[in-house]
Amino acid sequence: MIDLNGKVALVTGAASANGLGFAAALKMAGQGASLFLTDLDGAAVDARAAELRAQGFSAQAMAQDVTDEAVWTKVIEAVIAAFGKIDILVNNAGIAVLRPMSEMTSADWHKQISVNLDSVYLGTKVAVDQMRAQGHGGSIVNLSSIAGLVGVQGTAAYAASKGGVRLFSKSVALETARDNIRVNTVHPGMIWTDMQQVAIADNKEIFDQIVATIPMGRMGEPADIGSMVAFLASDDARYITGCEFVVDGGMVAQ
Ligand code: NAD
Repeated sequence: MIDLNGKVALVTGAASANGLGFAAALKMAGQGASLFLTDLDGAAVDARAAELRAQGFSAQAMAQDVTDEAVWTKVIEAVIAAFGKIDILVNNAGIAVLRPMSEMTSADWHKQISVNLDSVYLGTKVAVDQMRAQGHGGSIVNLSSIAGLVGVQGTAAYAASKGGVRLFSKSVALETARDNIRVNTVHPGMIWTDMQQVAIADNKEIFDQIVATIPMGRMGEPADIGSMVAFLASDDARYITGCEFVVDGGMVAQ
């Protein structure tokens, strides 16, 4: 069993009860970690932290816009004030601006890159500074996507953001390897969260078409991603850095 006892984890974008951030938080809490959750939706992320505490876990929360550099500094300070250190950062917050390039505005493009890619740079930078100062390593897990690995029609801005996360992470992993700060990416396929439910908008025909393209014959569940994040966060993954992990029921193996 993965052991996260004594570890402190910060997870962004953790407000949604059926989102990937909360699934990762729940899994890590169950393995012994203390959790600090953030999200744009402060009330909802407070509710998620309260749910964890109600289950006997250690959890705090704070509102955060991950695109705001000054707020990142405050968040790291709050994690240290709450738990004394940070061992794990999961850069999970994200949005999906899914439209063909012909319909995309510059505002759409910049919003997508800002929320999904600038945020990962900002968070990784402050977390690495703090982990280096602490002097006992750390693990950063960045949420990319299968859209960051292979071309998917109609996802140009999203794909650019997630492809950016993938190579940013590999590059930083090389810079931080000697500090024992590991940086890896997780590439979910189609996972049934609010993000997918909004994109598919209850269209059963599209849902069935998507499921037909998944070799394992089902959409992924948030816990399928939570397990991978928790593993990468743990010392069981101590020799893994600069790597990408596809969790997609076989979609990109085809
Ligand atoms: P979700 O929409 O359920 O949750 C994303 C969370 O991010 C929300 O709670 C939202 O409030 C928060 N958020 C958005 N903008 C923010 C900002 N500026 N600052 C702070 N928080 C912000 O999405 P999800 O499906 O749980 O996705 C989580 C991550 O996984 C995203 O990065 C997404 O791109 C990635 N991903 C998801 C899937 C999937 O199939 N669900 C597939 C591939 C990758």
